[in-house]
Amino acid sequence: MDMDFSPEDLAFREEVRSFLANKLPEHLRSGARKTPGVFVEPDIGMEWHRVLNEQGWVAPHWPEEDGGTGWSPTQKFIFEKECALAGAPGISILGLRLVGPVICAFGTPEQKARFLPKILSGENYWCQGYSEPGSGSDLASLKTSARVEDGKYIVNGSKIWTTHAHHADWIFALVRTNTEVKKQAGITFLLLPMDQPGIEVTPIMSMSGDHEVNQVFFTDAQTPIENRIGEEGQGWTIAKFLLENERGGSCFAPRLLENIATLSAIADAQPSGVNGAMAHDTRFRDRLSQVKLDAEALEVTELRILADLAKGRQPGPQTSLVKMLSSNIGQQVDALRLELLGHDALQLPLDRPLYGNEAPEPVGSEAAQTAMATYLNNRASTIFGGSDEVQKNIIAKTVLGL
Ligand SMILES: Cc1cc2nc3c(=O)[nH]c(=O)nc-3n(C[C@H](O)[C@H](O)[C@H](O)COP(=O)(O)OP(=O)(O)OC[C@H]3O[C@@H](n4cnc5c(N)ncnc54)[C@H](O)[C@@H]3O)c2cc1C
Repeated sequence: MDMDFSPEDLAFREEVRSFLANKLPEHLRSGARKTPGVFVEPDIGMEWHRVLNEQGWVAPHWPEEDGGTGWSPTQKFIFEKECALAGAPGISILGLRLVGPVICAFGTPEQKARFLPKILSGENYWCQGYSEPGSGSDLASLKTSARVEDGKYIVNGSKIWTTHAHHADWIFALVRTNTEVKKQAGITFLLLPMDQPGIEVTPIMSMSGDHEVNQVFFTDAQTPIENRIGEEGQGWTIAKFLLENERGGSCFAPRLLENIATLSAIADAQPSGVNGAMAHDTRFRDRLSQVKLDAEALEVTELRILADLAKGRQPGPQTSLVKMLSSNIGQQVDALRLELLGHDALQLPLDRPLYGNEAPEPVGSEAAQTAMATYLNNRASTIFGGSDEVQKNIIAKTVLGL
C-alpha cells in the first residue's frame, strides 16, 4: 500500500526493522509458523513478550504513564506491519490488551502498582472468565455468583471456553453480585488468583486436537475485596470497554496480507495439471486476488480508524466491522490454503508442539503439516470475541439504524 509516511515515521520504521533483524530469533519465527492454534503457545509468545518488554515496546496500547510506548497510531500500524512482515509471533492479548487497559482505566493507584508491572514483565499470565455455559452472546445473563464474607468475595459457578486457563496465574471474571436489579447492573469485575483449592480447570480439546480452551469451576473460590476493579455493579461498563479493545483498535490486515503472500509463493511452486503450477490456474488466481483485495480494503479501514483515534475520536461500531471482516478473510485464506495443497493437506498430526527438537517430521511441506489444523481451529474466529451474527446486530443497530 502506498503510504505517505512522514520523515519521522520512516525513521521509526527503520528503527523497528533493525530491532527485528537483531532481536527476533529464527526459533521464534519458526515456532509461530508451526503453531496451528488460534493463540501462540506461552513458551514462544512469552519469550517474544520479554524481548519486547526489554525494548519498552510490549504495551503500545497502554497510556504512556502506565508503561505504554507513547506511539502515534501510525507508529502502531508500522510496528504491526513490520512484525507481520518479519514473521514475529503474536503475543497473548489476555494481559496486555484485555485486563491491562482495564486496570489502567479503572484500577486504583494500588491496583496499578500491584498488577501492571507483572503484566509488562510477563511474570503473571492471565485468562478471561466471561463466557459461561448458557451465557455467551447473551453475556449479561451470567450466573457465576460472588458474595462478601470477612473482607473476601466467595465465588461459585463456572466459566467456559477459557483460553489458556491451564497456563494462567490469574483470571479476570465477571460475576453476579446482585440479583435484585436489572441484569447488567448486578455484575462486578473481579481478579482471582488461579492457584487455590476453589478453582478447578478441565480441558476442552478442539477439533484439531489442540488444547487451548477449558472449563473453569469455582467452588467457594476466594479473592480479597481489594481485587475488585471499579465499584460493585460496574462490571458491565468495564466488560464493554474490554470487549471494544478485544474487537478493535488492532491491525489484523498486515498478518492477513503476509499469509496471502505466502499462499501466492506456495501457488508458484505447487504443480497442477493446469499450465504447470497452481499460480497459473486462472480460477485459483481470481480467488486469491479477491481475498487480497478484501485484505487491502480492510487495511485501509484499519488505517482510517487509526486516523480517527489520532484525532481523539473513538472507533465505536467500526470495531465490529473490523472484527467480522478480519475473521472472515482469515477463514477464506485457510480454505484456499487447503485447496492449494490438495491431498498433502489431508493430515492432522496430533503431536504438539510442531516446532522444536521433538517435533514430528512434516509429511510433505511444512505448510501442509499445519494447514488442516489451522483451518479447523480458525473456525472459532467467527465465534469468539462476539460471533458474526452478534457483530451484524451491532452494525445493523448502530450504523444502519435498523
Ligand atoms: C476458541 C475460543 C476461545 C474462546 N475464549 C474465550 C475466553 O478466553 N474467555 C471467554 O470468556 N470466552 C471465550 N470464548 C467464548 C466466546 O466468547 C463465545 O463462544 C461466544 O461469545 C459465543 O457464545 P456461545 O458459545 O455461548 O454461543 P451462543 O451465544 O449460544 O450462540 C450460538 C449461535 O447463536 C447465534 N446467536 C446468539 N445470539 C444471537 C442473536 N441475538 N442474534 C443472532 N444470532 C445469535 C450465535 O451467533 C451462534 O451462531 C471462546 C470461544 C472460542 C470458540
